[in-house]
Amino acid sequence: MTSSVTRAGCSYFGVRIPRHVRRDMADLAACGYTGVLHTFSENDFANYGDTMAELVAISHAADLSVQASPWGLGRTFGGEAESRWVAFHPEECQVLDDGRRVAAACLNSLAYRDFCKEWADWVLECGVDSVFWDEPAWVVPAHVGVDDAARWTCRCDRCAECFGAPIPAELTPEVRRFREGSVVSFLREVVAHVAERGGANTICLLPATEGTHGLADWDEVAAIPGLTTLATDPYWKHWDETAEPFVRRFARLLREPTERHGIGAQLWVPSFGLEREDIPELESAVAAAREEGVDDLWTWGYEACRHMTSLASPSAPLVWEAVSAALTTRPQMATTEAARSRLEASEGSVRKAAGR
Ligand SMILES: [Zn+2]
Repeated sequence: MTSSVTRAGCSYFGVRIPRHVRRDMADLAACGYTGVLHTFSENDFANYGDTMAELVAISHAADLSVQASPWGLGRTFGGEAESRWVAFHPEECQVLDDGRRVAAACLNSLAYRDFCKEWADWVLECGVDSVFWDEPAWVVPAHVGVDDAARWTCRCDRCAECFGAPIPAELTPEVRRFREGSVVSFLREVVAHVAERGGANTICLLPATEGTHGLADWDEVAAIPGLTTLATDPYWKHWDETAEPFVRRFARLLREPTERHGIGAQLWVPSFGLEREDIPELESAVAAAREEGVDDLWTWGYEACRHMTSLASPSAPLVWEAVSAALTTRPQMATTEAARSRLEASEGSVRKAAGR
């Protein structure tokens, strides 16, 4: 039996200046990472077309595989990016159960599906190794300014057409099935588009099998033709869960359908928003995923997201060191310029905390 190669990846966003990205990709590789996920937002699509191709080439030159996520696209995927498409196409947007139209594209909209395919063509032209369909789901009300988590979509005319009747105002079992079926049909179409062009696909499901954003049948997703890898991101704090059992449960849930369909299994752990005292939990979560047979492990995101105010925590330097050591199974050493400046920042925050 040969030992499997450790695969560890990390998301990266917020920098579009190639010489800075070059330094950070070298740092990631020196930490022992083998992959990077670059976010490709609508803003990038409109304004950074060639720059993103350059960032992919820089990543490859550092020996990192590259995944591309549709960051905040149409407000139907994960990510802290805004959507211009929804502003330009209000008629293609989702309708809440109470009849309000919200700023998120309908997954059954043909125009939106076409837009996602155009976006995919662009990221493939940029040279990415895999398209990472991140947290595809009907809109979360809070993300479009609706302060009522019980609201759900979609009751638009296009959905009624697909359903074969007006969408009932109540979440009946038929409506639930239709909503989940629409997510799967959307994924089937975009995954096929990428596969036909020779690209690889990862689908990252939210860690939920019920509720208004969960998918009950992960086997149905794993069976999508052209899918290379099924992923999930059990970010325990966000779901108000305990790290180790939550991650273990979803690692297990990945394993069976991915083995049955002969595709890869990938799991993401958070490094954003964690404090120093969360580190042992983070380490036990990574160990649990490995025990369940998932060894393609990624984290969101670079340097524990300390550069992004809404995701940062004061303990980010410590968390980054811990998550990097856990994922790459390598002790972390300050071998690059970026790592040395991290160390200085970390020592500075310790001195500040100690009042020195
Ligand atoms: Zn709709």
